[in-house]
Amino acid sequence: MNMLVKRHFAVITAVLIVVGTFITGDIKVIAASGDTTVYITKTGEKYHADGCRSLSNSKIETTLQSAVDKGYEACKVCKPPKLNAASATTATQTKAATDAVEALKTYKGNTKDFNAYTYYINNTDLQTAVGADGDKLLKHYNDFGKTEGRIAK
Ligand SMILES: [Zn+2]
Repeated sequence: MNMLVKRHFAVITAVLIVVGTFITGDIKVIAASGDTTVYITKTGEKYHADGCRSLSNSKIETTLQSAVDKGYEACKVCKPPKLNAASATTATQTKAATDAVEALKTYKGNTKDFNAYTYYINNTDLQTAVGADGDKLLKHYNDFGKTEGRIAK
């Protein structure tokens, strides 16, 4: 690499780091994840951000997810972060996806030559192209995977 290219590379890297930091910071503000720290009180029904005047008597540290699960609502004075609907949905979807993959282990079409779970785990391209669906994975194996010599057992 000559000096000019090296210098350009350094500049581009620096820009990417700055942009990356900015984007990451931005997402944190918009999507308050469930593990964000918030505070509840002994008697109140709201949860609060640190420093809220309502916390002068009692201040119990908890997580946003836990506070919402227990029925606490966001304080109107300090406006603590709200649980992002998207992140809650993502968690549900992730759980559903994990369950679907687990279910492949006991897929009814599994044989000594084909195991839907093994096929899914070892052929990462199919995880997006086909998904964690035993019937579709088996069909893919019969149509292509077998002749392509893909790992299936
Ligand atoms: Zn408050």
